[in-house]
Amino acid sequence: MTTGLIFHDDYLKHKPPENHPENPLRLSATMEHLMKTHVLSMVDQITPQEAKTEDVERVHSLEHINYIRCMSEKGHGRFAVIDPDTYVSPETYHVALLAAGGVMAAGEAVVKKEVENVFALVRPPGHHASRNQATGFCFFDNMSVMVKHLQAKHGVKKVCVFDWDAHAPNGTMGTFYSDPTVLNMSIHQDPKSFYPGVGFIDQIGEGAGRGYTINFPVPGGTGDADYIYFINDFVVPYVRKFKPDLIAIAAGQDSHASDRISQLNVTDAGYAEMTRIFMELADELCGGKLVLELEGGYNVRTLPVTHNAIISTLLGIPHDKKVEGKPLQSTHDLLTQLKNTLKTKSIWGEAPDMHEASEEDNTCKRA
Ligand SMILES: [Zn+2]
Repeated sequence: MTTGLIFHDDYLKHKPPENHPENPLRLSATMEHLMKTHVLSMVDQITPQEAKTEDVERVHSLEHINYIRCMSEKGHGRFAVIDPDTYVSPETYHVALLAAGGVMAAGEAVVKKEVENVFALVRPPGHHASRNQATGFCFFDNMSVMVKHLQAKHGVKKVCVFDWDAHAPNGTMGTFYSDPTVLNMSIHQDPKSFYPGVGFIDQIGEGAGRGYTINFPVPGGTGDADYIYFINDFVVPYVRKFKPDLIAIAAGQDSHASDRISQLNVTDAGYAEMTRIFMELADELCGGKLVLELEGGYNVRTLPVTHNAIISTLLGIPHDKKVEGKPLQSTHDLLTQLKNTLKTKSIWGEAPDMHEASEEDNTCKRA
């Protein structure tokens, strides 16, 4: 068995306005680089299909799905704008369904044991999209659509989702906030002054889902040694207790030191080491079943190299650099705070939809 790579040429058809960070180059430059390094010839390329409406409806309202379709159709070759970050071009609806379908195909390939592990190189990203709201470059929450699909159709019961994107996954967090079948963990830049404004340490789920959402909001400057320390000291034993049937990573590489969208300091060695740890954990707990799917990552000069490091690791090729340095004091302090939070008996509020659109298009009915 080998590593799968999900890609479709149509992922390049969701076309941004000029100078938008979420653009097709993120994927085309990655594919070119993977070809140059011959990693592309080592993976099983899987061509996905669009998710069906019924698949997306497990996560989003029909009104929301129709709103995105309508906004795409009425673009007539020009952009429609959902919020200051989130644009719609005429192919957006198709490409967003194809991204959700791509992550579904990734999950299926792993569950059916067609590949050992998989990287879904998809766009637009998904983890900010909530039930009724496209935001933060996201339309449909690809990760949540995959998880619900595998649970509904492929006998998967428990999924561990780990999100290393620089931003908290408010969409995914909202979907599973009271659901104890999904352990939803995220390390991200502190949302006090960073999009999406949720993902605080005391947001740990509610009701039956209490303790199944974990947020680790780190300050700018946090890097490889901190991520690895958090994962080894907390995440690994926590996931062992949960015993998932599958581990899925929301791999957003905007936490990279070179990515100007965040102030985080993760390097290729850090991403490779995180990948290796989750491969080992998946081997131990769930027959190696591991899915990585693309979220953010906007430095098109370094992103292809980072993707090469991650996918090479999935193929079993060790990264040439080791993680260096020691975790910051702030990471030790946060970890103590998280462990204390999980011990307390308070009841936490819901994960809210944070981002209200500032510009509304009244011709498409909003959910
Ligand atoms: Zn992000």
